[in-house]
Amino acid sequence: MAAWLDEHIRVIPDHPEPGVLFKDLTPMMAQPKVFDRAVGELAELIQPTKPELILGIEARGFIFGAPVAQRLGIGFVPVRKAGKLPADTVSVTYDLEYGTDTLEMHRDSVTAGSRVAVVDDVLATGGTARAVTDLVDGLGATTTALAVVIELAFLGGRSRLGDLPVEALVVEAG
Ligand code: AMP
Repeated sequence: MAAWLDEHIRVIPDHPEPGVLFKDLTPMMAQPKVFDRAVGELAELIQPTKPELILGIEARGFIFGAPVAQRLGIGFVPVRKAGKLPADTVSVTYDLEYGTDTLEMHRDSVTAGSRVAVVDDVLATGGTARAVTDLVDGLGATTTALAVVIELAFLGGRSRLGDLPVEALVVEAG
């Protein structure tokens, strides 16, 4: 139980749609000591997996992923929504509850054989994280870990990620 963090996470019912309990992390981002501790702990959890790059998933994964990469002294790669990246990209389209979504990264941002860790704010159903690990696989690289601030374990996201190590600062059982 991460009491230091929990009190800075705001829960918004029915956002962005009825039935979703949205985990709003903006209060913790506004507290520099709490934000710094969260970034430090995410970096510590990832470090043993020896990544050479951090991939952050648009948009909240950028907010945590970039400082984690800095903390570890390694590079940061943004994984973006379709049409945002200017150079040659690889893309993956995956199913949402209603419809599909597409994520892209620069084709030359991850070289074959390299080791990357993925950072996002929340792991829910795991569809987004799985899409990113598929992108990494497609480039011939290895995903070493997924690190998130909150894992909504009752949604079973981990089970979509095979044996990938999943690290979370807060795990919600249900
Ligand atoms: P999923 O693909 O279902 O694992 O959803 C993960 C993405 O949706 C993450 O990038 C989160 O930012 C966002 N997300 C899903 N559920 C929530 C939630 N309850 N609160 C905040 N963000 C969420």
